[in-house]
Amino acid sequence: MKHKLLWAILLFVGYTNSHAQNFKRLHKKATVIDTHNDFISTGIEKNKSFDMALKGITHSDLNRMKTGGIDIQVFSIFCDENYGNGTAYAFANREIDTLYATVQRNPSKMMIVKTPEDLLSAVQSGKLGSMIGVEGGHMIEDRIEYLEAFFNRGARYMTLTWNNSTSWASSAADERAKHNLGRPYGLTSFGKEVVKKMNALGMIVDISHVGEQTFYDAIATSTKPVIASHSCTYSICPVPRNMTDDQIKALGKNGGVIHLNFYSGFVDSSFKQKNDAFLKKHEAEKNELLKNNPSDFYANLVLHEKYKDEIDGVRPSLSLLIDHLDHIVKLIGVDHVGLGSDFDGINSSPRELNDVTDMPLITQELLKRGYSKKDIHKILGGNFIRVFKANQQ
Ligand SMILES: [Zn+2]
Repeated sequence: MKHKLLWAILLFVGYTNSHAQNFKRLHKKATVIDTHNDFISTGIEKNKSFDMALKGITHSDLNRMKTGGIDIQVFSIFCDENYGNGTAYAFANREIDTLYATVQRNPSKMMIVKTPEDLLSAVQSGKLGSMIGVEGGHMIEDRIEYLEAFFNRGARYMTLTWNNSTSWASSAADERAKHNLGRPYGLTSFGKEVVKKMNALGMIVDISHVGEQTFYDAIATSTKPVIASHSCTYSICPVPRNMTDDQIKALGKNGGVIHLNFYSGFVDSSFKQKNDAFLKKHEAEKNELLKNNPSDFYANLVLHEKYKDEIDGVRPSLSLLIDHLDHIVKLIGVDHVGLGSDFDGINSSPRELNDVTDMPLITQELLKRGYSKKDIHKILGGNFIRVFKANQQ
């Protein structure tokens, strides 16, 4: 009897150890691709470089990417609606310069990826494959030649709009809030021309942030699979930035991929209310912070860091994030889902995912839910590679 018990204990310990090694080994072996990281714009704002040690300050930096097992990172090129014609394109180029300079300073650790062949060589050489995604059509300033120039500098996706509509596409925020009076609803004929030009160049159409009408117009116009670089599901968390079941099904038919956003407010429908209550409680302190730095994002970040225990209580679980993934898989299958963290562009993420080094926990959760190794390889990066290749053909 004693022996039986001993055997049972040994088997259990063996099982847990091999399970732990399994997910780490699988995560390391897989090509892990994150389609959305905002470090470049956040770094400019905070005066920090990606090759500095920034643990506790940002979600990501060059060395922590390695710990997180990230092979390919799409860096978002971003400026908000305060930039427009005459300023947005120049600012975007300054960000691209910043990424190129970072890669040049670290030739043994990073490389720019413009083609599927580059992607493969980055993975094989163990360098962080660095891709460029332009987050917001306002950065082309209504000029096709600026779109071409972005492509030539390496941009491989463009999000048709950010929260602000352009003169040729309406955003999710504007469509839902009906702010778009006097603006386009969906894609204008120039907007369709932009999509066709992106198809011709080999630049992926990104539909995160766009309004539903723009989404359907883009899907109908594009001859190539599109992506949502950082979005979740509306049926689990009904906010305008997430995708409805009908949109998810349409994207599945198009052959595209939805990359999950880690932002607590897109993962958990109750987060906004809880976070508002937290901010209300610390309002006086927040106002003091805003006196020194008018950025709302920065003030919230400082409060989230200072009252970590308190805010941990309102952060959703990693499990809820993976519920979004399960929901998409149930609707359109495992070939249409990936990861687009939005790290360094968000001030709250699921409590297990504190920064990029926690990425392997996603693989652990996928294994726990019974996804096969083959499926996990697809989710972590294979699906994006398929769409990238299809767009470059
Ligand atoms: Zn975004």
